[in-house]
Amino acid sequence: MKRKLAYSGMVIVLIFALAFTAYKLMNARNYQLFGNITAHVETNDKVVALTFDDGPTKNTDAILSLLDDYQVKATFFLIGKDIEEQPGEAKKIAEAGHQIGNHTYSHKRMVLKSTAFIKNEIEKTDALIANIGYTKSVVVRPPYGKKLIGFPYYLNKHQRETITWNLEPDTYFTEADEKVKYVQENIQPGSIILMHPMYDSTDNELQAIEGILQAVTKEGYTFVTIDELLTFKNNQ
Ligand SMILES: [Zn+2]
Repeated sequence: MKRKLAYSGMVIVLIFALAFTAYKLMNARNYQLFGNITAHVETNDKVVALTFDDGPTKNTDAILSLLDDYQVKATFFLIGKDIEEQPGEAKKIAEAGHQIGNHTYSHKRMVLKSTAFIKNEIEKTDALIANIGYTKSVVVRPPYGKKLIGFPYYLNKHQRETITWNLEPDTYFTEADEKVKYVQENIQPGSIILMHPMYDSTDNELQAIEGILQAVTKEGYTFVTIDELLTFKNNQ
């Protein structure tokens, strides 16, 4: 009886350890089981990337005009079904010379999903991105940054880069000036900043982005796209 209890205890501990490891792995920004994942780039050059998740939506014009004011190219991780709904908005992003990434078709968590599901999520979105006239190679960002086994396995097999981020002011702050301060204090060469201006109905997020553009430029940094940032890797 005692032995049986000890055994059950060990099994429970093991299950918790496995679940904890899987949880850590699913959420890790800079580690995955297969293929390349980039949360920031190791470089001494003062270059950083501004990335936007989700959409496109009707907010596109305002975002593009802000970026244009500062002569900055950003990277937009677009959702397949949003491109389907707003192909014109997606086209504007491509035509303005920004980088476009694949943020899956349905924006579901790419965890515990079949290979066929994952393949469809990526490839359907690739086709939509190609349809708006974007011809460059397309990097991928999993929704919520979550991935476990199937998602990185598929991307590695198809030699696709997984791009996450290392600065996410929206997770910690709601006020624009707090977001700006956080980025200003934590920015480093090779940083990848994540912002969410697409579904924002106020101009709070745009204000934060403008503040970040000003503050980070003042610190002597240049904003580049993810493709450009990757060329600075190991460039020390
Ligand atoms: Zn997203």
